[in-house]
This record gives sequence, structure tokens and C-alpha cells, in this order.
Amino acid sequence: MKLVLSTRNAHKAEEFEKLLAPHEVAPLPDEVVLPPETGTTFAENALGKARAAAQALGVTVIADDSGVESAALDGRPGVYSARFAGEDATDQENLDKLLAEAPAGSALAYVCVIALVDPVAGTEEVFEGRCTGTLAAEPRGDGGFGYDPAFLPDDEIPAPAGRTMAELTPEEKGAISHRGRAAALLREHLGG
Ligand code: IMP
Repeated sequence: MKLVLSTRNAHKAEEFEKLLAPHEVAPLPDEVVLPPETGTTFAENALGKARAAAQALGVTVIADDSGVESAALDGRPGVYSARFAGEDATDQENLDKLLAEAPAGSALAYVCVIALVDPVAGTEEVFEGRCTGTLAAEPRGDGGFGYDPAFLPDDEIPAPAGRTMAELTPEEKGAISHRGRAAALLREHLGG
């Protein structure tokens, strides 16, 4: 099945293409305007992005919203992960802020919610994936994006000797990541 992915994030588009195969993931046409992410939950933001594109295009759309929750910071940055260090913060600035504010070894969770909106059938579904881990003392690795260099996934034990998310291959990351797990639930729903 062909699904338009409502995102402007090239890293996510790349990950989803692999995670949802054999379904086809089509890019979001430039003319579609995405709403600001004003929701307080991942599901609200994912649904907002998917609905906007589904209404504009009249075809089935998926969108995700994701982030990292730090136990030491009472769940922050959560839905604000992309702008943790400020409105136009870079991935590096956000990562530096997490390393400065949360202690090494403290618990983290990556969360991803995928929304599926079919404007013809008038249906909406959400799929949530989680990946738990701990904060590394220092960033390591060149793969992935965002907080990956400091995220030691629990599936890669024993921390702190284990690899960070940025040291895994894309396939290894997809097998355990929040996005991989949410995508597996979506694939199951779509069948085929
Ligand atoms: P979104 O575009 O609102 O979903 O922003 C998600 C933000 O959460 C990203 O900019 C990253 O900072 C962080 N994030 C989400 N997924 C990942 C991941 O797989 N690795 C590293 N950081 C991630």
C-alpha cells in the first residue's frame, strides 16, 4: 500500500522507508502546510500532522511524533525534544543540554506514536512504540540522529559498555527502536 509520510524530517523519512517495506512511503508534497506542534502528547501532534496532509491530499497519510523522556527530568523533554535547547536548537545543542542536566546512567525512554489517517474511509488510528535505555556519560557514534549518541538502549546490555544507538547499524536500530516498534504495529494493522 502507498502511504504519504507527513514530515519534513529527512532522517525520519529514510528510517520509515526501510521500516514499512514492502509498503511504499511517499514524500510529503511541498505545498502541504503542516500545523505547529502545539499538542501536549505525542498522539495529538502525530494526529495533527497526519490530518493536515490527509485533508489537503485526499489520500491515506501517516505521521509520527517522537521524543525522549528523562526520568531524572520528570519526563522532559518529551514532546519538546526537538526544541529542548530553544526554538531553533540543533540536534547537538539539544543533546548537550540533556547531558548537562541529567546524570550519566539515569533512565531514558524513546517514545514514538504513528498516526494513520484515511480521509476516504474517515478512520484514524494511533500506534505507540517505546524503547528504554540509559544516558551515556559521553556521546559516541556517528549513526542515527538527535539524542542517539548518548542513548544506551537496554536491549544492548550491559551499559555502560554497550553501544549507543548511534553505534548501531540502521537495521539494528530499527529492530529495537521506538520507531521500529511503532512501525511493526502499523505493519501488523495494514497486513500484507
Ligand atoms: P518530532 O519531529 O517532533 O517527532 O521531533 C522528535 C525529536 O525527538 C527529534 O528532533 C529528536 O531530537 C528526538 N528523537 C526522536 N526520535 C529520535 C531517534 O530515533 N533518535 C534520536 N533522537 C530522536
